[in-house]
Order: sequence, then C-alpha cells, then structure tokens
Amino acid sequence: MIEKDTIIIGGGASGLMCALSAIKNNKKVCILESAFKVGKKILVSGNGRCNFTNKNLNTNCYNVFPKQFENFNNFDTQKLFESIGLESYFDEEGRAYPISNHSSSVLDVLTNSLNSSMCEIITNCNVLNVKKENGKFLIETNSDVFVANKVVIATGGNSMQQTLKNFGIETTKIKPSLCGLKTSEHLQLLNGIRVNAVISIKVNNKTLKEKGEVLFRENGISGICVFNLSAKLNWLNCCGGQISINLMPEYTKSELINKLQMRKENLKKLNAKQFFDGWFHNNLGIEILNRCGINLKTKVEKLTKDNLTKMAQEILALTFNVVGFMDNNQVCSGGVALNELNLSLESKKIKNLFLCGEVVDVDGICGGYNLQWAWTSGYVVGENL
Ligand SMILES: Cc1cc2nc3c(=O)[nH]c(=O)nc-3n(C[C@H](O)[C@H](O)[C@H](O)COP(=O)(O)OP(=O)(O)OC[C@H]3O[C@@H](n4cnc5c(N)ncnc54)[C@H](O)[C@@H]3O)c2cc1C
Repeated sequence: MIEKDTIIIGGGASGLMCALSAIKNNKKVCILESAFKVGKKILVSGNGRCNFTNKNLNTNCYNVFPKQFENFNNFDTQKLFESIGLESYFDEEGRAYPISNHSSSVLDVLTNSLNSSMCEIITNCNVLNVKKENGKFLIETNSDVFVANKVVIATGGNSMQQTLKNFGIETTKIKPSLCGLKTSEHLQLLNGIRVNAVISIKVNNKTLKEKGEVLFRENGISGICVFNLSAKLNWLNCCGGQISINLMPEYTKSELINKLQMRKENLKKLNAKQFFDGWFHNNLGIEILNRCGINLKTKVEKLTKDNLTKMAQEILALTFNVVGFMDNNQVCSGGVALNELNLSLESKKIKNLFLCGEVVDVDGICGGYNLQWAWTSGYVVGENL
C-alpha cells in the first residue's frame, strides 16, 4: 500500500487546477491519471485552440449558476493563467484563447507549474474503486492500492459512478450534451452542407432559438448552435421535437416572395433544378424543390405564385423531426447535484471526499463555459483541502 496525504483522481482540467490551487496553499498532492498523459481533453478543446473561458459569465450559460463563481470567476482564471505564463486574448464574442492559438500552451503552463516536489503525477494509473475504512480512503488502481486522508474525484463525466453510488452520493442522470441532434429523416442529400441559420424548437410552450452555423449530417444536424440547443434541451429534460431551420432570417415572408419572383424573371430560361444555383448549395436547392413538390425539370418561367410561396415557406422554416442526441458530445449533463456538496465542494455525506469538474452536475453552453467550471471547481477544492 502506498500512503499519500491527498489524492486527486483525474488529471484533466479540474484535477490539474485543483493541484495548482492546493500547492499554492502549501498542500502536497498526488494526481492519479488513467491515461498515459494528463490534460488530453484540454488539448482537443476549442478545435485545438482551447477556448478556456469567456468574458461574459452569466446564468443563461449554465444549467445552474454555482455560488463557487463568486470565489473564482472568469477574470480570476485569466489572471491566474497569466501569472503562470499564459498570454491570452478575448475574441469579439468574448471567448478567451491563448495568443499562440494552441491548446498545448494552456496545458504547458499548467504542467510547468505543477512540476514541483509538492505535486506528484502518476499516469497509466486507472482507479477502479475508492472505499473509506477507519477514516482513511483506500484507492484501488490497476497497479497499486493507495491510502489517503483526502480524495478529490476529478474524473470528468461518466467515470466513478459505481464508487459514488457505493458512497450513497446521489447523481442525476448522465446524458450527452453539446452534441449534434439526430433526426428521423435521413439527410444523405444534405450531408456536409453548412448554412448560417436561425434554428428553433418548441418545448413545453417555450421556443428555444439559436443562431449560427448548422452542419447537415447523414443522420441529423450539428454545429455550435445545434450543440448549444442540445444543452438547453437537456436542461428542460427534453430530447426531441420538431426543429425549424430558417435559412434567410433577415427576410420576411413577403420580402422573400418578392426576391423569388425577381429570380424567376431573371432566370426564366433555366430549369427549376437550377433555380437556387448561386444562392444555396445545389443539393439544398433540390431539397427545397422536393419539399415543395416541384418537378426539377419544370421551366423556371412556369413556376406559379403558389410554388414561390411554398418555396419561401420552406426557406424560412425547413423542418426536421429531432429524435435524440448524437454521440459526438463534448460534455455530459447530469452528475453529482450541488446540493450533495458544501460550498468547498466536499461531499456532505463523506467527509474529506471532494468533487470537481464535469463529475458535478454543472454544464454550460459552448464558449469556454465548461472549462471555466472545471477551473473554478478545481480551484475552490484545492483551496479547501
Ligand atoms: C472535443 C472537445 C472540445 C471541447 N472544447 C471546449 C472548449 O473549447 N471550451 C470549454 O470550455 N470546454 C470544452 N470542452 C469541454 C471540456 O473539455 C470539459 O468540460 C473539461 O475538460 C472537463 O474537465 P474535467 O477535469 O472535469 O474532466 P476531464 O478533462 O475529462 O478530465 C478527467 C480526467 O480523469 C481521467 N480519469 C477518468 N477516469 C479515471 C479513473 N478511473 N482513474 C484515473 N483517471 C481517470 C481522464 O483520463 C481525464 O484525464 C470540450 C470537450 C471536448 C470533448
């Protein structure tokens, strides 16, 4: 058995921040990480650029807005990272990135500051179970058994569920979030097409709306605004419904009919199949025509007023039936509810057991909000160990 004072299980964003905060408070820690290196998710985050926080931190961005943000917020994050060597900037939408535009910069400054006698990192060490006996924690791993006075679970979304259950710690259902939405329609024709649109879905008499790039996939739709919608659907306990994609949100219906009428006059010699060429991707044009029941060989000059009205309707509300979530999720929603934990994120049931990061039931939309929770929760736990 290997004795340690404090063990952090998981060397991801929250575990590393927890260690940094602990050693700043002169607390010795040991990180056990199952992978061959720490911080793998940091490296893939933000398309390899790591959108590590956001200037605009507010209640609309999370399922719940934890009190811990009062102790350590987005600006504290930027300052702390600056103090350990990270040069960063906020983009026009408030998202923070390292100036290098490489997520490795974020991981580098973290691991450089943890490279001290105060923090030991053991990789390839998969924790299988944690028990508490006679006031001490027994941590069984694939290689050794560790004994510790304090344990932090920082294992991210779905790991350690059995251990939490054994400790009697309640978790809410874990679901994929920040992911694409599956549709009952097979979208082979549209696969790979990107559009800038406003998407909306009605849930319990409430309309959820998002604006941005939508990427069509064979089995559904993806893209950042779809990811954000998936989070908000989760928060309302909903995973389906009719989604409407407005391809021309800047137009009213009558403006759009006028535009279509003008195109008809300009392009009267073409076939209907060519009517949308130069405006939408060809296959998207065909999809609209198919939905309007217009034969692709019809001459444009033969398109009727009714045809143009139907086209306008489809362009303003291309509807699909959402039937679930894709498994390309960036985070999990659900986990240990905040009311199981005190303000220092210690379990109310198990003394000296702390939790931070995604394992806690806090999740946000895209934009640096999930990493912000990982930093905040890790920092708070580290200060309170
Ligand atoms: C593709 C992608 C892009 C993303 N981009 C962004 C972004 O730009 N901005 C943003 O805010 N968020 C982003 N996120 C989300 C963000 O990465 C997570 O919210 C954050 O990493 C959660 O931190 P964590 O410490 O809780 O968990 P993780 O980062 O998942 O770390 C958990 C660690 O624990 C280890 N572990 C798990 N089980 C065990 C075990 N039994 N024993 C030992 N070790 C274990 C894992 O190997 C891992 O290293 C992205 C996520 C993905 C997948």
